[in-house]
Amino acid sequence: MSITTLRASLLHFANKTQSPDTDLSYFADGLLVLENDKILDIGSAAELLPRYGQAKHMDYSGKLIIPGLIDSHMHFPQTEMLACYGEQLLSWLENYTFPIEAKFADGEYAAAIAEIFLQQLLKNGTTTALVYSSVHKVATDALFRAAKARNMLLAAGKVCMDRNCPDWLQDCPDSAYEDSKALIEAWHNNGRLKYALTPRFAPTSTEAQMQRLGELARAYPDIFIQTHLSENKQEIEWVKSLYPQAKHYLDVYDHYHMVRPRAVFGHCVHLEEDEWQRIKDTGASIAFCPTSNLFLGSGLFDLAKARELDINMTLATDVGGGTSFNMLRTLGEAYKICQLKGTNLSPLSGLYMMTQGAACALQLEHSVGNLNPGTDADFVVLDYRFDELTQLRLTENAAPEDIIFALTMLGDDRATQSTWVAGKEVYQKQ
Ligand SMILES: [Zn+2]
Repeated sequence: MSITTLRASLLHFANKTQSPDTDLSYFADGLLVLENDKILDIGSAAELLPRYGQAKHMDYSGKLIIPGLIDSHMHFPQTEMLACYGEQLLSWLENYTFPIEAKFADGEYAAAIAEIFLQQLLKNGTTTALVYSSVHKVATDALFRAAKARNMLLAAGKVCMDRNCPDWLQDCPDSAYEDSKALIEAWHNNGRLKYALTPRFAPTSTEAQMQRLGELARAYPDIFIQTHLSENKQEIEWVKSLYPQAKHYLDVYDHYHMVRPRAVFGHCVHLEEDEWQRIKDTGASIAFCPTSNLFLGSGLFDLAKARELDINMTLATDVGGGTSFNMLRTLGEAYKICQLKGTNLSPLSGLYMMTQGAACALQLEHSVGNLNPGTDADFVVLDYRFDELTQLRLTENAAPEDIIFALTMLGDDRATQSTWVAGKEVYQKQ
């Protein structure tokens, strides 16, 4: 038995809540106790230290520990294309995304990028993510292998697309089915890994392909489903012309059994009333991708509407349409979008959307998203006074919401002191 204690300020949300500003759990001088890969105990240092005298002690006084962050929508082959200048969604896919994703037919290349990609996640305090691979099975295997080596709780899937993209990047209905099925069998619930069925978006799948993927969605009710929805107005018109029989964009996915719990729809910037309601009624989730929506000029997400319906909300970087791997920075941009929409987004409700709120939306709260005893020990140690400016801005006993908010504007990976996955330190600031 190996017990380790970490002394620091501790902040998390122990329960599912609609009021993160008041339902937080905070210990200014706290002790987080680990036993192997799990959290064993959490509380004030004064109370717990005498109980764990024999343990290995680590002192992070002056630092803040929060749960490992959850990024619910990102593309690992796009790691190398962050910050490509000047397009909106459809031309951006054509000019940048597809040529780069083609490189992932090479398994060795994919394995090398998977290493860089996961290192970027951990460096930014993200320990769980929902990840789109490329169309290639070999690249998806490479990503899973790299995540398995780090014992991460990662959900990922091979992109499926058989039209409206270059023919050298297409699968077909049967190969999409066979490859996805083989990947599910190999990786879903393999250790901490999960599979996410991944039609890129409705315009790039034929009805025949959607049909086959729908069969998988029904055969494997506990896998994730991830896709894009209502990101860009031109895209929505295109979907209407491709699927004239569908009531609206979401209805395309619904027809093929893909609107359900653990289905995560990226963007949802321009939803119709009936789409909002259907997402609510089915228990599906929305991934709000603020940096991407601003970068690609897609539009301003309506968080107030999602709250009114109490929809499962998560926050996501959407790398590489998004512009940062850092979830706190991403929250900063979400805050600005909400400012423009006249909606309040408090730092704690933002933090909730990337920890416990996301975990509850994705049905992962028994493993991640909080610091509750019995969960997997995935967490981040934040060095929130990491430079002259943050030392000036934040006092040593700053309130937790003030720390989080300051880091959404001033922070980046320099604020990550260390990142832990399943009880092991997997990243440490030099
Ligand atoms: Zn995306």
